[in-house]
Amino acid sequence: MKVLEFNLRKKYSEASGVCAVVSDDIVMELNEYGDYEERVLLLNDMVLDSDIEFVSPNFSSEVNETDIADRLFKSDDVSFDQRLGYYRSLYAGHVLEGDYRINASSGGIGTWIFKELLERDYIDGVIHVKENLDKGSPILFQYGISRSVEEIRVGSRSKYYPVEMSEVLRTVREVEGRYAIIGIPSFIMAVRLICEKDEVLKSRIKYTVGLICGHQKSSKFGEFLAWQVGIKPGNLKVMTIVRN
Ligand SMILES: Cc1cc2nc3c(=O)[nH]c(=O)nc-3n(C[C@H](O)[C@H](O)[C@H](O)COP(=O)(O)OP(=O)(O)OC[C@H]3O[C@@H](n4cnc5c(N)ncnc54)[C@H](O)[C@@H]3O)c2cc1C
Repeated sequence: MKVLEFNLRKKYSEASGVCAVVSDDIVMELNEYGDYEERVLLLNDMVLDSDIEFVSPNFSSEVNETDIADRLFKSDDVSFDQRLGYYRSLYAGHVLEGDYRINASSGGIGTWIFKELLERDYIDGVIHVKENLDKGSPILFQYGISRSVEEIRVGSRSKYYPVEMSEVLRTVREVEGRYAIIGIPSFIMAVRLICEKDEVLKSRIKYTVGLICGHQKSSKFGEFLAWQVGIKPGNLKVMTIVRN
């Protein structure tokens, strides 16, 4: 695909950052509307890496979610439902243990499942969305890696804020280990697609956890809420509190 075509079609991209992982010719940037967008460093008539079309869910016409699931989960002892896909068992619930629920967005399962995976030695790190500790940066939240239960707990709760995965996936490529990742469905599909092209990521990302996602927000959403209580755009800061 030529750069010109990519630039015309990218407004439909899920903007997860995977394109920037497969090609150094692409960088992720927050645009003027507060959404992440791919910026291509090449000229319009130049041709992009062919993997780009494959790894981005909204560009990829080769595979859909069912194709990916077939390859990963199809088995005689796994059930299949046309609407849900493959499953072993289905539950609805919330965490009873400790203060996971009160510190979570919903029932706390998102955080608890990672704590269990780490404590039972199935993983070395959790890739999730955390407060940006660089307070000089206008970016409030970003994907990062937690390697202790305390860090996992501090990263709980939903961030209705734009995020992308290019930097963190590059770190996973560089730093050996077993990882679990959480994301909205389009991002998890992008992770699955890039894993089909990248053996290192495939071998290191052991677990994916999908969040229900009815909507995404630009960075202006938080600013808009804060402005209503007197905090002007640009002055909003984050402070994470974990209750014990
Ligand atoms: C953008 C977005 C839209 C959502 N839309 C809906 C919806 O329409 N309906 C609905 O029922 N639920 C929606 N959710 C899911 C819901 O907000 C909770 O995240 C979910 O119920 C998990 O709750 P929990 O208590 O188990 O998670 P917690 O224990 O609070 O853990 C949440 C985990 O998700 C990670 N996380 C936080 N923000 C993001 C992010 N932006 N991207 C990836 N990971 C993140 C955290 O780092 C943490 O590890 C949405 C979540 C997001 C991030």
